[in-house]
Amino acid sequence: MMTDHHHGKVNDHLMKPCGEEEEEEENEEPGSSPSDPPCSITTPGPGGSSGFSKPQRRSRTKLDSDAGLSPAGKNLNCPDCVQNLKGTGKILQGKSETNGNYLQGTRSIQDQQGQDGPRKRRPVTVDTSKAKTSLEALKLSIKQLKWKEFPLGRRAPCDIYWHGVSFHDNEHIVSGQVNKFPGMVEMLRKINLSRAMRTMQQLFPEEYDFYPRSWILPEEYQQFSAQIRLGKENETAVTPTFIVKPDGGSQGDGIYLIRDPSDLKLVVGSQAKQAVVQEYIPKPLLIDKLKFDIRLYVLIRSLEPLEIYIAKEGLTRFCTEPYQEPSQKNLSHVFMHLTNYSLNVHSGNFVHSDSQNTGSKRTLSSVLYRLGAKGVDIKRVWSDIIALVIMTVMAVVPELKVYHQADIPPGKPGPTCFQVLGFDILLMKNLKPVLLEVNSNPSMRIEHEQEVAPGVFEYVPSPVDEEVKVGVIRDTLRLMDPFNKKPAPVSQLKSGGFEHVEEIPLDPESHSRSPDEMGNLPSLCLKQVYPKYTKQFNSLRLVERIAALFIRFLGVKGNMRLGPTAFRTFIRTCKLSSSSFSMASVDILYIDITRRWSCTAPESREAGMGLQAFVEAFFYLAGRRFKSLVLKEQVAALLSLCEAQLEPQPSAEDRRSLSCSRALLRPIRTQTLCPPHPLLSSPAAQRRAASHQRLKPRMLRANVEN
Ligand code: ADP
Repeated sequence: MMTDHHHGKVNDHLMKPCGEEEEEEENEEPGSSPSDPPCSITTPGPGGSSGFSKPQRRSRTKLDSDAGLSPAGKNLNCPDCVQNLKGTGKILQGKSETNGNYLQGTRSIQDQQGQDGPRKRRPVTVDTSKAKTSLEALKLSIKQLKWKEFPLGRRAPCDIYWHGVSFHDNEHIVSGQVNKFPGMVEMLRKINLSRAMRTMQQLFPEEYDFYPRSWILPEEYQQFSAQIRLGKENETAVTPTFIVKPDGGSQGDGIYLIRDPSDLKLVVGSQAKQAVVQEYIPKPLLIDKLKFDIRLYVLIRSLEPLEIYIAKEGLTRFCTEPYQEPSQKNLSHVFMHLTNYSLNVHSGNFVHSDSQNTGSKRTLSSVLYRLGAKGVDIKRVWSDIIALVIMTVMAVVPELKVYHQADIPPGKPGPTCFQVLGFDILLMKNLKPVLLEVNSNPSMRIEHEQEVAPGVFEYVPSPVDEEVKVGVIRDTLRLMDPFNKKPAPVSQLKSGGFEHVEEIPLDPESHSRSPDEMGNLPSLCLKQVYPKYTKQFNSLRLVERIAALFIRFLGVKGNMRLGPTAFRTFIRTCKLSSSSFSMASVDILYIDITRRWSCTAPESREAGMGLQAFVEAFFYLAGRRFKSLVLKEQVAALLSLCEAQLEPQPSAEDRRSLSCSRALLRPIRTQTLCPPHPLLSSPAAQRRAASHQRLKPRMLRANVEN
């Protein structure tokens, strides 16, 4: 579909080594010419030198290989630190009984105080040996915080491990905190993300309308073709355009637009190509006649309990050819339709700018400022974006929990995890945000390559990247500081309402996020959005509750799939079989669904029923039992039934005092659903209970202006 010319460029770009999962790059702009050094924003204070106040150049070969790939533990202990550690004797102290609940914060503060009252705490230690291309931004962050970096790893444990790719970059961590969750890379691949979003769309179609309709190839080719045919038969409809994205792709690799199923490239060699084909958004919001998208950084600080932060500053990436709505003629114009930096940087029109509000890559605040000046309701856009982020995270959390318990089984030593994700968001002309994808490994490079002679590259600083990314990494570290772990203040746990518009940095030139001359750190650029905005979103956590059941019945630690016996046990324990639904039918259901799902993930080594298949089975069971309700109500009702069966049977006295307030003890149902009494077992009673729980369809927005 794309012209040879464009393909040539895209293919050049494709020629990178494969192997480990690659980070999403959006920032390899060639930069300014040597006579035009980019150095507008960094005036390092004593507490934090950027090192980039003057342009610096380095050879590419040295940059990543030295520091990023050395084996951990080869060196190199800092004697002071080892003594310190020996002194405390507690560095390997792991979790309390439940996963994710650490004593670390309390322990550390006590250690620092000793018996003679407070004394100066030791610096937080960070293993940066696996940081790869995040290394430069990470080094600056650690320097600004006055923490201690271990660039070659360390035999004794560090407080924090910063991985460049995935949780498994370093397999031997048994304590501390790692900046990756197990399973995140897998969950955020295009197909898995689409599946997770679709499950949520089935349950909550109104709320999850920010994700374009998508089909998974090759398995849904027939449905996709039928859909296009239907559109064509309807003569009044505008011919829709679709975008095809290879499953493991990033940086625009292999992406193309189509209007007819016959244009799909379904096979590579003899292999069916795994891809997502998605409705193309034909009317994006334009600035200077150009399409652009938003890269937003989101921190998942904890999975249990769920804590989400959003960076107030992000990046916007601009196309380099004026936008026109898709037509057969322009479908192959990548510089018009795809906002990827890695593609547009090859266009002759790419504008490198030291300023944050001009050029082909700008800060989010500068774009919001500009839109605000034109009268756009920025507060509303921002709260819609927050809602999109929270709902997207909620879609992937259930399966992440399955991965988590498999990799870090409860009760076994293991690190706690946190992760910065890169959300790619498009604003439609009507200002509605649309989720394009989520990157598990967003580029944290703060410099870009410049080819000064054929094959010879140099790195030059990129002020816009540095401004945004150092802030994100530094403030993530601050939030994860093991000596400062505090629970979220109760006052923050309110039900909604976006605080004030000042939360959005609107004037790009008026503030700097570098430490001041005294080395004082600026206020956090990461803002908690969950559990802060809990009330509107908690009712969406149904799949997470299904995942909790699934995990409970998995049995053997380390498993990710349910065997037939475990499935039967689930049915029996939750009393889901009956005279009209025998255990033989249960077995057939298990075989039927598991077989179908195993075709969708043939490479999976583990046999059995995965979470997605279990969710399908659960939906089926819910539909059978509560026929008169809509899906989300059916599912909520069946969940309440199962959860009630799994609770310890209350004594007579307990029964008397059972009330709705009991729901407060359950984190997920808190504030939303009042669980039915465990003794409510007749279908009619359950239906009545479920109908009380009916969730009103409405637009979810973090900003409920009430
Ligand atoms: P990649 O991981 O390869 O960058 P994306 O899903 O981010 O894949 O898509 C690449 C680019 O294509 C996006 O940055 C955006 O400009 C454009 N794009 C992706 N999906 C859509 C869509 N549904 N509608 C319009 N444009 C899209």
